Amino acid sequence: MKINFWNTALRAEIKATKPFLRTSEFLWQEGHTVHSTQEEAEKEVMKILDIYKNTVEEELAIPVTTGKKSNKEKFVGAVYTTTMESIMPDGKALQMGTSHFLGQNFSKPFEVKFADKDNVEHFAWQTSWGVSWRLIGAMIMAHGDDKGLVLPPKVAPMQAVIVPIYRNDEGKEAVLPKVEEIRKELESKDIRVHVDEREGLSPGYKFNDWELKGVPLRIEIGPKDIGKNSMVVAKRHNLEKISLSFTEIGKIPRILDEIQVEMLKKAREEAESNTLEISDYPEFKSKIEEGGFFNSPWCGKLECEEKIKEETGAEIRVIPFGSENANQKCIYCKEQSISVPVFARGY
Ligand SMILES: [Zn+2]
Repeated sequence: MKINFWNTALRAEIKATKPFLRTSEFLWQEGHTVHSTQEEAEKEVMKILDIYKNTVEEELAIPVTTGKKSNKEKFVGAVYTTTMESIMPDGKALQMGTSHFLGQNFSKPFEVKFADKDNVEHFAWQTSWGVSWRLIGAMIMAHGDDKGLVLPPKVAPMQAVIVPIYRNDEGKEAVLPKVEEIRKELESKDIRVHVDEREGLSPGYKFNDWELKGVPLRIEIGPKDIGKNSMVVAKRHNLEKISLSFTEIGKIPRILDEIQVEMLKKAREEAESNTLEISDYPEFKSKIEEGGFFNSPWCGKLECEEKIKEETGAEIRVIPFGSENANQKCIYCKEQSISVPVFARGY
């Protein structure tokens, strides 16, 4: 049985609230599933984590690191918690979503049973998972700049805005029919396009306004452009301007695809430059002030995890899949490592 909700949730968050990241009421999506076997439930946990990862990376253009939470950081009722974590431009970690394997921890006390093919009642195997509007906060932080929002084309409500430019009625008569033609052509290619027909505002004002709102492409069409049979296309993510002839309008979908790819690439490069391999504790302590993801060997003991948290404010955000490693020494106690988790300070 699989149940999916889109709802609001309330948590006892009073101090240090932040819009989208931590609020007492928030919008989220949560799923709860019940399975007949452990194997099937564990498969579901990973399938959902993969869906979340693909959504965040491919739609929101934010790279994530996936793996398991430590026992200290997992959801209290879970056998284990899988998570995806991202590093924000300020060097702090943000938990982007979790998918839990609950085992029979809930089915036994609450007597969630089913009759199997053998006609015998068994306790069910359960999972639960969720992402919230925190992802919107992550997207704002990951891509925004001093001019405002920068939206990835795949999720932008408007992918292109056309700003007609004219000074008088004569200009208007020349420009508007062309603008209309371009709008229709873009719509026929499934581009979400808007024409800024507001009167009494200068083109400069409109440009700033759409930059603030993060629209991926701004198309400027004025009398001079019509004379040259071309338009100016400004890209929001890198502020680059190009000139496209009217016959090249078919390139717009490809340009939007390229922007999507470039945004993920840039975010990935930033995340990589903020990720350090650190196995020396004094170095860990001094560098944590600047933030970042630290891949540091750990013995698996709770005491070391707690001491590190107490002394540096950094916690184990995620133990990446495949990071098991017995060949190093724990960054804190110097005993043999079991894995190389990501340590970071979080939101
Ligand atoms: Zn240790």
